Amino acid sequence: AKRIVIKIGTSSLLYQDTSKLNLRAIERLAFVLSDLKNQGKEVVLVSSGAIGVGMGRLGLSKRPDTIPAQQAVASVGQGELLGIYEREFQHYGKSVAQMLLTRDVLVYPQSKKNVFNAFQELLKMNVIPIVNENDTVSVDELDHKTKFGDNDQLSAIVANLIDADLLIMLSDIDGFYSGNPLSNPNAELYHTITSIDGSVIQAAGGVGTKFGTGGMVTKLKAAKRILKNHQKMVLANGKNPRIIYNILAGEPVGTLFE
Ligand code: ADP
Repeated sequence: AKRIVIKIGTSSLLYQDTSKLNLRAIERLAFVLSDLKNQGKEVVLVSSGAIGVGMGRLGLSKRPDTIPAQQAVASVGQGELLGIYEREFQHYGKSVAQMLLTRDVLVYPQSKKNVFNAFQELLKMNVIPIVNENDTVSVDELDHKTKFGDNDQLSAIVANLIDADLLIMLSDIDGFYSGNPLSNPNAELYHTITSIDGSVIQAAGGVGTKFGTGGMVTKLKAAKRILKNHQKMVLANGKNPRIIYNILAGEPVGTLFE
């Protein structure tokens, strides 16, 4: 895989109990991605976490209830988050770019082309684009979310747009299981999924359950888009970003969608 999109979830970037930044995880992520650049790979990072970081900065202990307040907190957090990435990547001599997108980029041919061109140019300049949903323009991902924002589908859209060889989705779980491991201790890890049918969706808790928004459902929607485009996605645990090396070496970690 030469062109790789990596999506990292809020759960891997923040300590769940305090919502404080997991600096070690971010530091390790920057190291691995910078090292991949040195190996000649093209890397795009899709990062969540803006609301969580904004909450920390503003001293909020709980996520705001209204969408406008979430938008405001996200825009505070986005700046800080990018600042942290900027510092961490600079440490390894790498440049990053902020790309705030909306999920409808593919709908309008002109915006699709503009975004594609910008990606091409950044990758040509050896820059690592850091993508997030533009929360002040689009509230799709803030809406009906019980947890922090999700960029799962956006990462698949980006992978489609730039024709990535692989989408790596890092979460707080080892992969996709036959049921939610939190509530079902007998759930088994699937190593490979080749199509997203009704029973697969069911394993994700179905739509409308506690985990029916965000969580696995949006990851499966992303996987569906990837499969439809004959691309590949690996869902794996982002606790230690070095897992990216194992994935690229073709070792059987996480769940491969292909
Ligand atoms: P992230 O913040 O990384 O995007 P989420 O917390 O939104 O991650 O989603 C991951 C969670 O989805 C897991 O921690 C798990 O509790 C839940 N989940 C629900 N169903 C499944 C399943 N079938 N396999 C794995 N995880 C599942």
